[in-house]
Amino acid sequence: MKHIFMSLLFAFIMATDCVVAETHADITADLILFNGKIVTVNRSFDIEQAIAIRAGRILAVGENDPIRALAGTATRVVDLKGKTVIPGLIDGHYHFMNKAISFTMAVDVALVDSIEEMVKRIKEKVYQVPPGNLVYTTSGWLPQQFKEKRVPTRYDLDPVSPDNPVIVMGGHSIYLNTYALQELGITRETASPQGGTILMDPETGEPTGRLIENASRLARKNWISGGRIWTMGSATHEQKLEAIKTSQKKLNAVGITSIREPGISAEDMRVYQELRDNGELTVRVSMNYSLDSSRPAEELIKQLETWGVSTGFGDSMLRLDGIGEFGIDGGFEAALMSEHYVNTPGNEDPEEYFGLQRIPTEKFEQVLQAMSRLGWRACIHIVGDRGLDIALDAYEKANQVKPIAPKRWVIEHAHYTRPDQFKRISDLGLVISTQFHPYMAAQNMTHFWGKDRSSKTMRMRDWLDAGLLVGGGSDWTLLPANPFWIIYFWVTRDTRLGGVIGPDQRISREEALRVMTINNAYITFEEDIKGSLEPGKLADLVVLSDDILTVPDDQIKGINPLLTLLGGKVVHHNREAITIN
Ligand SMILES: [Zn+2]
Ligand SMILES: [Zn+2]
Repeated sequence: MKHIFMSLLFAFIMATDCVVAETHADITADLILFNGKIVTVNRSFDIEQAIAIRAGRILAVGENDPIRALAGTATRVVDLKGKTVIPGLIDGHYHFMNKAISFTMAVDVALVDSIEEMVKRIKEKVYQVPPGNLVYTTSGWLPQQFKEKRVPTRYDLDPVSPDNPVIVMGGHSIYLNTYALQELGITRETASPQGGTILMDPETGEPTGRLIENASRLARKNWISGGRIWTMGSATHEQKLEAIKTSQKKLNAVGITSIREPGISAEDMRVYQELRDNGELTVRVSMNYSLDSSRPAEELIKQLETWGVSTGFGDSMLRLDGIGEFGIDGGFEAALMSEHYVNTPGNEDPEEYFGLQRIPTEKFEQVLQAMSRLGWRACIHIVGDRGLDIALDAYEKANQVKPIAPKRWVIEHAHYTRPDQFKRISDLGLVISTQFHPYMAAQNMTHFWGKDRSSKTMRMRDWLDAGLLVGGGSDWTLLPANPFWIIYFWVTRDTRLGGVIGPDQRISREEALRVMTINNAYITFEEDIKGSLEPGKLADLVVLSDDILTVPDDQIKGINPLLTLLGGKVVHHNREAITIN
């Protein structure tokens, strides 16, 4: 009881400014959840029975009786009937704006089981739009999930799209039909740009329609600039507002209360700000500003110098995170590796192929030093170990401009790292923001990197054992990206299509929960206000259908949030399962 009282007072001081005016007896909760299993994810991972909320913050956590004693006449109560409660989940790397627009406007092909089905869905969309308008798809699919076991080509797309440009989006490649290739003027004579490949058919010498890494910019540039044929691709401000408003409900429904946007434009930041100002955001957002890495260093540095604010600016709903992703390398098919590839995306000799460097070292280092000088932190997309070597060199140089540890610079992804790099990561006070790509796409990764490297991807066990701070997220083209799939992968290392990969890198459920809550809160400098259920913190929490700490492994993926609170407000509620009295 003493423990409860102390934390109660502490909470009250934290939550209000007028502690002198009221006495302890006056403190009543707005909402009490009792008779449950409250997984606090505090330092000692305490499990409690009940939680009280007042003014959007956690008033107290503890045993049923003392918490229920905080009820006043207006207090609402929830009998949890033994259900488990966890802190609101944080997706540490989710391109929400992009996915929200894409799932509102594009053809959803993320989980289709064949190219045939993909083409069928594209055909339906083509019927709905005028000739000349762009039709594009979501990404998130894998050739291994198709019964054809290959990627689409222009010849798959052409029969259903004679009068429209079509782009099938992939993670790091895009796939065009003939109409789109012609509109962009891409022929057998077109040279691949630096850091990218226009894939040619080895037999005919004609483009297959696939543009890899920087080559995809040839299309994206037209698409984003809202040119004649790309009007569908450039969503308006109003469409973006609507897409976020609708889509954030899907995030709340899977237990997500915060996300990090890995890289958006200033224009997209205005969309979030408008929603925040109107009180319409139901997910907390930490935004990274995206730089166009194809521009010269001097231009990018000037661009950063125009900002009067930087990392950390904002509040608990909306804040500035850093500069991202400013990727040094590509995805599975173009990660910079110190050892050569097993297979290549184009026609390169695997023994001569080590991935693609997307930003030249000198420019990369110059811009990162400017970020440090201007108070920004870098949140760099780094996939291969050679990419990490280059980035660590650059981070060390930026650290000489100004110490970067207080700004918690980020390594985004870190798919393939070597243990000899861990000390450098730790010495610079870096944090790792990793994901669950292997769950979705292990076979794709193994194809390019071979089994050994694949089984050592996302080395969660090794990182945590080395004392590194690791946060986690999805970075996948799904809406929503289910956080319980992510946790399932880290705990089991089982993958969607390819079986268990690197079982020695499994982590416990307790660790996985920390990664998706308090560790992600640390990455956004918010470990004191969210990420665990402790007095004084924001009342972001999720009531689960099953106990995530004890449910059999194979049922983790099926866990369903029944109630999600954001700052004490209900943002998702399954009324059949949970009653609020
Ligand atoms: Zn990335
Ligand atoms: Zn990303």
